[in-house]
Amino acid sequence: MQSSQTEMLLALDIGGTKVAAARVENGVILERRQQPMAYDAQGFARVIDILTAGWSAPERVSVCTTGYIDGGRVHSVNLDIIKFWDGFALADLLQARFACPVTLINDGQAAAWGEYLVRQTDYAQAANLLFITLSTGVGGGLVLDDRLRVGPHGLAAHVGHAGVRLAALDGATRCGCGRLGCLEMIASGTSLARQATALFGKPMNSAELFALAAHDDQAEAIIANAAQAVAEAIGGFHMIVDLQEVVIGGSVGLANGMLDRIRTALKGLALRAAPILSAARRGGDAGLAGVIALDNAFTESYK
Ligand code: ADP
Ligand code: ZN
Repeated sequence: MQSSQTEMLLALDIGGTKVAAARVENGVILERRQQPMAYDAQGFARVIDILTAGWSAPERVSVCTTGYIDGGRVHSVNLDIIKFWDGFALADLLQARFACPVTLINDGQAAAWGEYLVRQTDYAQAANLLFITLSTGVGGGLVLDDRLRVGPHGLAAHVGHAGVRLAALDGATRCGCGRLGCLEMIASGTSLARQATALFGKPMNSAELFALAAHDDQAEAIIANAAQAVAEAIGGFHMIVDLQEVVIGGSVGLANGMLDRIRTALKGLALRAAPILSAARRGGDAGLAGVIALDNAFTESYK
């Protein structure tokens, strides 16, 4: 396995809410910037221009993004999240813009690899690690037997679309992927906001819901139900692949008390040989850390 020793790398992490960019030299982040995600293709091109304004031309662009990657295009699993993203020719756009090789990988998968690598010096590094990001959607990545699994269609570990036996508290059932009972319908930032807005009868976002939960039982119930659903999904994965560690990231996953709520729910499942539960050590930059470290073999490369 070779690591990419690019002199000047542009690393991008494209989420449903924000796009982060890093100027990287020999694996070290020199500068990091962030912008809100765009609503259409033209807006997205502008976001890339703003993020990279004044930076020297990269020799290589390495990207992790929401959605799964197939043939240089990004495809959405949940069609309700970023409308223009399904089938978007991301590699073409970036190649035309930067005239250098571009590699693409899913954001949850990159973050799983970043979080796996940062544990390399641990006494007992997990060979089987599941990363879950609770963010605009719910994503994930799986390292199995010390190898990142991307899958033949780039779909591996899309945890958000694992079926869970719980229901969203606003009664919503069908996910934007077309299926019923997906974790993402209960535990994403978008879904927390949707449930809070329905139950409280006024627009409320995920951060406001977390603040309210400190003294409101109904708000707490929405978040606790989400934590229970995450634990259920972890339980399902664990019994299939035998996990040693589950790492939680994303702004919702890292929000006040979320990890503890998931831990409590997981204990209630009384899983055999339950995995360790931890917060992303790279915080919101787990995806960037992953793409910076990633070996080309795991990513789709377009030259
Ligand atoms: P992305 O999905 O772009 O990777 P994030 O991981 O930041 O981005 O997730 C964005 C989601 O997290 C949004 O739904 C947003 O409302 C929610 N969110 C952001 N900050 C907080 C917070 N402090 N507490 C709870 N939810 C948050
Ligand atoms: Zn779904």
